[in-house]
Amino acid sequence: MPVYPIRKYPDSILREKCKRIEKVGPRERKILAQMAETMYKAKGVGLAAPQVGINAQLIVVDVGEGLVKLVNPQVLLREGKSILEEGCLSLPGITVKVERAKKVRVQGWDEKGERIEIDGKDLFAHALQHEIDHLQGVLIIDYTAPGLRERIEEKLAQLEESYM
Ligand code: ZN
Repeated sequence: MPVYPIRKYPDSILREKCKRIEKVGPRERKILAQMAETMYKAKGVGLAAPQVGINAQLIVVDVGEGLVKLVNPQVLLREGKSILEEGCLSLPGITVKVERAKKVRVQGWDEKGERIEIDGKDLFAHALQHEIDHLQGVLIIDYTAPGLRERIEEKLAQLEESYM
């Protein structure tokens, strides 16, 4: 199965709000499978559809606890706090300390279109929240405190220059 090219900052699709999927069919299943392939090849732990140029609420996550494919994912419950250094396949060379809920319960549909709930904690919870953020056009650089932002400013400028 071919892999998708990964869209990198400052590609405008990364800032779009993604549309809900009305019905899960062969097209969505194919996109999810190809997204998983793309994530593994890039050695990422998660990927959201806008990162491969598709405006749709689809994510894949695998932090070493098995592959999860989710359609229209939403965070139902949040518990505790956790800070982890996160990277993003769309922001090569950049890591940001992001504070998120330590535990989450996420609801969505599986690839058959059936409603499912998934509980995640620590790295898995971060990855789920990170990918769900992508569906709202939110990136890890949005979490940087003003002082810390300067640290990555140069790297962002380089990405802007090398874009296209
Ligand atoms: Zn990301």
